[in-house]
Amino acid sequence: MRGRDYVAIRGLEDEVVLKGRHLLGGEWRAGRESFLTRSPSDLNEIVGEYPKGGPADVAEALEAARKALPGWRALNVQRRCDLLHRAGDLLASRATEIGTLLAREEGKRLSEAVGEATRGAQVFHYYAGEVIRHPGQFQDSLRDGHSVLVSYEPVGVISLITPWNFPIAIPAWKVAGALAYGNTCVLKPSEFAPGCAVLLGQLLEEAGLPPGVFNLVHGTGRELGDTLVSGADGVSFTGSTATGRLILQQAAASMTKVQLELGGKNPLIVLDDADLQVAVDVALQGTYGQTGQRCTGSERLIVTRGIHAEFADLLVKKVAALRVGHALDADTEIGPVATAAQLAKNLAFIESAKAEGAELATGGQQLERRAPGHYLAPALFFGTTPSMQLNRSETFGPIAGIIRVQDLEEAIAVANDCELALSSGICTTNIRSAERFRRLSKAGMVMINAPTAGVEYHVPFGGRAPSGYGAREQGTASADFFTEVKTCYLNHGAI
Ligand code: NAD
Repeated sequence: MRGRDYVAIRGLEDEVVLKGRHLLGGEWRAGRESFLTRSPSDLNEIVGEYPKGGPADVAEALEAARKALPGWRALNVQRRCDLLHRAGDLLASRATEIGTLLAREEGKRLSEAVGEATRGAQVFHYYAGEVIRHPGQFQDSLRDGHSVLVSYEPVGVISLITPWNFPIAIPAWKVAGALAYGNTCVLKPSEFAPGCAVLLGQLLEEAGLPPGVFNLVHGTGRELGDTLVSGADGVSFTGSTATGRLILQQAAASMTKVQLELGGKNPLIVLDDADLQVAVDVALQGTYGQTGQRCTGSERLIVTRGIHAEFADLLVKKVAALRVGHALDADTEIGPVATAAQLAKNLAFIESAKAEGAELATGGQQLERRAPGHYLAPALFFGTTPSMQLNRSETFGPIAGIIRVQDLEEAIAVANDCELALSSGICTTNIRSAERFRRLSKAGMVMINAPTAGVEYHVPFGGRAPSGYGAREQGTASADFFTEVKTCYLNHGAI
């Protein structure tokens, strides 16, 4: 272990261990107990060591955020804009370094990981602009000599709880949104990939953010969740639907404002008239990109009978040819599964699909690579039915099943026959079919001839319950969560 308070990762120095700290009121703080993270590409490699926080650390972080709130919300908007912009610049300048840490700790392949860090920078730049763009309203009153003003105020102190699968992009869009609209925050990153949040804390400090505006606490949500939810004015959570339900229950007791971004079981429909090449590429990217560990990943491939044979034949060849390997290897197309628990869950889905009579067309077995890691051959099943476990619950892995259907109407019915409703997609060259699906899909996001995963930061992101709850994230929609409305009636006559 190196001696410095926290070690910045430069280049590809595998042996460097990040020594993460809590960030409480501008102070980097160690803890009595700590936990380690290991690279899923090489389980012998320790990536980071972090303090294991308790409720007292969260309480201190919340208090620091509350103390910093009046100053931050009153700060000149140009100054707030400049600070967020500078944070974006710093993130962009450190994208390779942050992406490398991300790839080592989470297992995402390097180019995707650097791309994610770059996205984080773009998000900060976008919300820097939002500080200044965000409008209020002025309206004539129904009463003579009166006016009505509607203004949007910060909610206050926000707890941000994030998952492991986008360890820089999700913290970036939550933190940038919270800060842009004048809130202060406490971030609790996933205990499986907290390193990027430490580097984010460093660069916010370097950008000149006042102490206490951004705070960071490490540890498990199970132990920290209650305090994070009950002690804040708002909680923005991204993670599994099961955890989201718990948070919603806790938030009801304290009446904490809640935003939940949860799991998906996203359908991709391929119609007979689809461009076959486009459909196969869309399915391949949407299902297996980032090792299938995206809430918006395609997990159900619903294919009409006329194109089924050709589509299945072409897709299985492409899936079988995907190169699974170490996240830092240049020729890797699919990195390892991120955690041992996630790998076990993926293998259980593969076994249940086989037991229910699905035909395993390729993959599904663990692989050995140059170092011991969570390597899984991407799996594709033929002959699956909507009622199989594989098609009902989120796998969150590089696994999908093809469901054969007669026509568009059956495809839409199957696509909607699942309680999760985050993203959905259709491949077709018929504009009427595309439009019919756009209208009838119950998902929060609909992709036409594009992968179900792959979203942009300037437009609303999210799904319907139980894939999401509360206001959408990203774009200007994020103001719906991060601000409170104030309506003011003004009688000019009395002034
Ligand atoms: P998870 O729910 O296990 O954990 C997410 C975060 O919640 C972690 O920081 C964890 O420590 C914390 N947590 C756990 N128990 C808690 C509790 N009782 N109270 C408060 N916090 C608690 O999810 P995960 O395994 O990290 O991530 C995978 C899941 O996230 C998948 O279901 C995926 O679909 C979902 N996800 C959704 C989106 C989206 O925007 N809709 C994006 C990415 C991931």
